[in-house]
Amino acid sequence: MCGIVGAVGSRNIVPVLVEGLKRLEYRGYDSCGVAVLLDGQLQRARSTSRVAELQAQVDTDGLSSSLGIAHTRWATHGAPAVHNAHPHFSHGTGADATQRPGRIALVHNGIIENHDELRAQLQARGYVFLSQTDTEVIAHLVDSLYDGDLFAAVQAAVQQLQGGYAIAVLSKDEPHRMVGARAGSPLVLGVGADGAEHFLASDAMALAGVTDQIVYL
Ligand code: GLU
Repeated sequence: MCGIVGAVGSRNIVPVLVEGLKRLEYRGYDSCGVAVLLDGQLQRARSTSRVAELQAQVDTDGLSSSLGIAHTRWATHGAPAVHNAHPHFSHGTGADATQRPGRIALVHNGIIENHDELRAQLQARGYVFLSQTDTEVIAHLVDSLYDGDLFAAVQAAVQQLQGGYAIAVLSKDEPHRMVGARAGSPLVLGVGADGAEHFLASDAMALAGVTDQIVYL
């Protein structure tokens, strides 16, 4: 069980995400990644190396945003490889889907037990999978239920999940919104200064120095 950090605010929250991942490194992980909304597009950096290497990529790519999610992975489904590292994106359906920019970005801790069945249903609807993870199934499932309201789509998606999960989700069409859900795996909500920024994390320790107002979901 590895780590999730997410943030939505009005300043650049990427340093909070990377610092949060560093605080979760002690748990062990085989890969890590971060996704942000930048200039209206979801953009990400992923690495099978340390968080310090991810930070170098983030700096080189100039990833800066007031909305983002980040993850350290301990692989359960699919090898520890960059294409299996989170965040996973969904791009909608069709043969050219993966050429399009990502529409949904998602990080996940846990295991989805009915991932084979859900993957088959989503493939039949035209979703193209780029990883071997159970997590990518959730990203496409949320996309398939998305109609402009990310909260409603995640709420409908989790009804179909069997297993344990903590997730944090973004949509490129909702630049001020981050949605989280949990069942079996831990996830906390952090409320920042004046309620003007909010955080999600798998462990309150990831938010040390950012906020001490923690809601245990
Ligand atoms: N089952 C997911 C995967 O293999 C999440 C693993 C985790 O909790 O880090 O990618």
